Amino acid sequence: MFRYTKDICRLCGLQHDPFHKVTLNDDRICSLCANPLPGTATGDWPTLEHAFSTRIERARGARPYDGLLMLSGGKDSAYLSDMLKNKYRLNILGLVIDIGYEYPETFANARALAERIDIPYEIFRQDDEIMRRYYRFLFTEQAIVQPDGGQVCLFCGRFLIHTACDFARRLGIPMVFSGHNPDQIFLMGESIHQTPEQEILVDFLMETLNEETEKALRLWRRWHGEPELPLFPDSLHVDGVELLFPFQYFPYRPEVMIKQARERLNWQPIKRFSKTYIASGCRLVKLWAFMAFLNKTNSYVDFEFCNQIRGGSLSPDTARQFYEQAEIDFEELAELIRELDMVEAMKEILSPYGDRAETLVRMLA
Ligand SMILES: [Zn+2]
Repeated sequence: MFRYTKDICRLCGLQHDPFHKVTLNDDRICSLCANPLPGTATGDWPTLEHAFSTRIERARGARPYDGLLMLSGGKDSAYLSDMLKNKYRLNILGLVIDIGYEYPETFANARALAERIDIPYEIFRQDDEIMRRYYRFLFTEQAIVQPDGGQVCLFCGRFLIHTACDFARRLGIPMVFSGHNPDQIFLMGESIHQTPEQEILVDFLMETLNEETEKALRLWRRWHGEPELPLFPDSLHVDGVELLFPFQYFPYRPEVMIKQARERLNWQPIKRFSKTYIASGCRLVKLWAFMAFLNKTNSYVDFEFCNQIRGGSLSPDTARQFYEQAEIDFEELAELIRELDMVEAMKEILSPYGDRAETLVRMLA
């Protein structure tokens, strides 16, 4: 998300990235634009929407709530809460899982949203010490670290979804809604596959994911014993609770959703990353994005943006502004590294990068 090169695709903005095998041709068009992969499903939307309605009807009328919605303070969960409450007339409980590394705006946004659309919500605070150990592990355990930093969101996302499902089960709520977008759902091996190519890709992803999860769990047990929380669940699902990703059933149009969330809900983006567009409420994003920058790889968010540009749901101009405004804040990174109690481990990780990591290393001294 921080630009490491000026070699970018003139159509989708993706950076030249040998690690992910993204190269630019003589015409400055990237290999993904030149030969699109069978990626996100583009669907027969009326049929999918019908499937969505059928699934939610099975839960309607449950007590105390029809469903639990994961709230993040971002546009996706804002848009979804409006849709579930006002279009589908569901009785929803909002849930914010507090991992201890959010910006305060996450909670302010969730509260404002819940008040605005009039749904109750809960904040579920995780144990500070377990979370510190968990994220330190995800950032510094060399055997699971990916050059693009993707392991942090991948494992944490699965932990959070599983936690929400567990929470729902304990309260007797039959359904959990998560606002993960189509690319994120696909990476978790959960897409509705429509073509044989997509199915093969999902099988492959699931196999890799299972291997990575087993490896992480093995290492965690070696250092910390049996995890006290479902930090590395082998499945997202919890018995007795249906997990729904609404963006598998509806076209994902980020700019339309932002407009609607602003107009109908008075929603405001969290402008911690860039003044434009993106609204990550999580402070950890900046650190893995910095590691991707050091390793000269696109991150999964860069791939999301370029997929959205290619699919016509994000304008290249918005993305360009986003990148121009994204700045590395070394002081913030250093503070986060200290909070995670991983100064020595990070100094070691940063040392091979020489000049490019020098400012941060100096701040950690
Ligand atoms: Zn491209």
